[in-house]
Amino acid sequence: MTARIIDGKKIAQEVRAEWKVRADALKAQGITPGLAVIIVGDDPASKVYVANKVKACAELGLYSEHIALPADISEAALLAKIAEINANPKIHGLLVQLPVPKHIDSSKVIEAISPEKDVDGFHPINVGALSTGNTGFVPCTPYGSMILLQKSGVSIEGKHAVVIGRSNIVGKPMAMMLLQANATVTICTSKTVDLAKYTRDADILVVAIGKAKMVTGNMIKPGAAVIDVGMNRDEHGKLCGDVDFESAKEVAGWITPVPGGVGPMTITMLVANTVQAAERATVK
Ligand code: NAP
Repeated sequence: MTARIIDGKKIAQEVRAEWKVRADALKAQGITPGLAVIIVGDDPASKVYVANKVKACAELGLYSEHIALPADISEAALLAKIAEINANPKIHGLLVQLPVPKHIDSSKVIEAISPEKDVDGFHPINVGALSTGNTGFVPCTPYGSMILLQKSGVSIEGKHAVVIGRSNIVGKPMAMMLLQANATVTICTSKTVDLAKYTRDADILVVAIGKAKMVTGNMIKPGAAVIDVGMNRDEHGKLCGDVDFESAKEVAGWITPVPGGVGPMTITMLVANTVQAAERATVK
């Protein structure tokens, strides 16, 4: 079997076009959805991520503010800046690019963001909303991964979904979303004994480990849908996922490539969450 390749770039374009219609409808009412991105310090990777987020907003005609703060800013000053943006009606979505420098408590930062503007979906209120099935904001990477499954026609209800990884930004919210879509969900971690026993039983396998090509074709159930969240460099410095694409695509039914799979969806869902935040602010 050769898997159907889930084209994240193409699906991201489709999804952006859908959200552009919603953004344009708000603009017709005089409301331009606005996103503020705070970056603390000058980590080069973070700078690239932030620039891409701001660019994606501009492409959809959204308003965006890029707020660069020095690495030695005090925690109190950062929290004060967040409070100021929370109160700014032009801004509907706010995120602080993580990681923040070590002298700043990232939990305090996340909790300082107004839950109504928390477009990363990391605030405990939004985490709680996802767990209890209430309306909140869901983290962009698992949100985008769910859309890839849905748009590819992968049926989720009643299927065994295995998520490898339990981070707050990917693994846990992904498992929660699959559960809400009525999958039977297993979460595997670094402590799982005999990982392949679980992966070989997965109809849907979501891999978010951070180890290049760790999941190989012989660990995959024939016909399974494989979502590779990983972003790593291989031995030649080339971008690759946590799944060994070459062997996996011979067994899987669907598979996301790296690059061009989950990656383009993450920023797309950030834009979607920002438009949604503006819609919710408008109906208040
Ligand atoms: P993370 O916080 O480091 O979490 C990694 C998870 O993998 C942990 O739960 C860890 O288990 C588990 N793990 C590590 N080794 C394992 C093993 N041998 N077997 C089974 N599980 C193992 O990473 P993350 O933030 O979730 O990110 C995961 C990957 O996704 C990274 O490559 C990251 O770059 C990528 N990513 C991509 C996007 C995107 O937009 N495409 C967005 C976010 C992240 P323990 O909990 O037991 O330590």
